[in-house]
Amino acid sequence: MKLLRLGDRDPSVAEARAAFIHLGFLPVAPRQAAVADNAPITATGPATATTAGAAEPAEPGGQTGATEAERSAAATEPAAATEPAVTADLFDRELDNAVRAFQQSRGLSVDGIIGPDTFRAIEEARRRLGDRLLYFSVTHPFVGDDVTALQERLSNMGFDVGRADGIFGARTDVAVRDFQRNRGLDPDGLCGPRTLRELKRLERTVTGGRPDVLRESVRLLARGPSLLGMVVAIDPGHGGDDPGVTSGPLCERDLMADLASRLEARLLASGLEAHLVHGPHESPSEAERAARANEIGADLLVSLHVDASSSAQAQGVSTYYYGHARGSSAVGERFALLVQREIISRTDMVDCRAHPKTWELLRRTRMPAVQIDLGYLTNAHDVAALASTEFRAAVAEALLAATQRLFLPPEQDPPTGQLRVPRIAART
Ligand SMILES: [Zn+2]
Repeated sequence: MKLLRLGDRDPSVAEARAAFIHLGFLPVAPRQAAVADNAPITATGPATATTAGAAEPAEPGGQTGATEAERSAAATEPAAATEPAVTADLFDRELDNAVRAFQQSRGLSVDGIIGPDTFRAIEEARRRLGDRLLYFSVTHPFVGDDVTALQERLSNMGFDVGRADGIFGARTDVAVRDFQRNRGLDPDGLCGPRTLRELKRLERTVTGGRPDVLRESVRLLARGPSLLGMVVAIDPGHGGDDPGVTSGPLCERDLMADLASRLEARLLASGLEAHLVHGPHESPSEAERAARANEIGADLLVSLHVDASSSAQAQGVSTYYYGHARGSSAVGERFALLVQREIISRTDMVDCRAHPKTWELLRRTRMPAVQIDLGYLTNAHDVAALASTEFRAAVAEALLAATQRLFLPPEQDPPTGQLRVPRIAART
């Protein structure tokens, strides 16, 4: 699809504008209503803003004649009357702000660009529970805010939907049928008017318990401190024809492939199971990567990337986990914080912290998952670090330590940087 950004003029900008008005990120625009030519003052709204701005400085000079001329010029300008219809097609500053606010609220990268991710999020955000019949479709699962609303309601009533991720999957299906059975309805898994009415009737006002988050933590604790047999999925961010970010002789694909194999070796040596999500000759889509991690039943997923910036000053390490304004993966967040802490304490990289995101990989994985952006290949300091094998070895060690810590009860958690991984694996 075509990317839309500030300054673009295109009919699909008008559609996007309408969507953001519908979603409440833009006020209902008076300019559209002003197409009727009986009100030239309103109609020239956006156009006169510049004309008046230019005319004003002349006014204090006492040259009323000039202002008069400006005024009549503006009034007689026929283009001004047709302008409003055209401006709906223009990607202006106001729309740019709305796109950024929307992206922020959805946990997307905030770049002001309407690309595939933002477009998908707009489509999903427009869905309201009750707009359509929802059920479990294996081939084309329903995705949207209506599914999230359904999952949140079921979850608040104690039905296990897993993560409220807005995707109607097998677990949501089981939860819907459980609910239907529980309420004496036909357990057909169809979330239509009858089931919705029952949901609404029973909806408790008590919220905020976040049972989905609690369940995730309980499952994790149930494993105990033993790491034997735990499966870690490692996702090198790129591969095959896709080099990722490049800088001179260095490229993201090769650097992260090296780090991935180091990490794999360290995990295996410590009694954990490690699987690479894909081989060196391919670069699957994010959804495909997530599907593979789900298939192998991984307990954790680590996706490895580096970053790039138009500014040579940008540097440092960030880690991302699944989350948005309404909630996040509690374990994913904890793991991301541990990853940051361990990497920062073992290297001289700048700490760009952990952040929640709704990227496809993080969203579609069923286990706690993190994506690490290990420095900028556009920054001299970070390039020097990434080029060094010692640095990559230290990061592999940091990731292993973060994995260990995630499963240790707090009282067994030794100070950062002092964890000797093999000893702990041997003790269990
Ligand atoms: Zn990448």
